Amino acid sequence: MEDKFFSKKYCDRCGNVLDARTMSWFNDDTICMNCSDKESAIKKKLQDGGKSYEGCGYIPDVNKQEAIK
Ligand SMILES: [Zn+2]
Repeated sequence: MEDKFFSKKYCDRCGNVLDARTMSWFNDDTICMNCSDKESAIKKKLQDGGKSYEGCGYIPDVNKQEAIK
């Protein structure tokens, strides 16, 4: 299996050059720290800190979440 994580040059989400990289919490994307920060913000807004969303395959719509509360 090819390790795409380290061979990737660009963020899967925003397309910026990957200086630092991390895995998305929500799906298999390799993302930059900017996008990681955005995910952190989303996780904070989710009811259980986003724990139940790990690897869910999509980015939860936080605005919708807030509307439910
Ligand atoms: Zn990015």
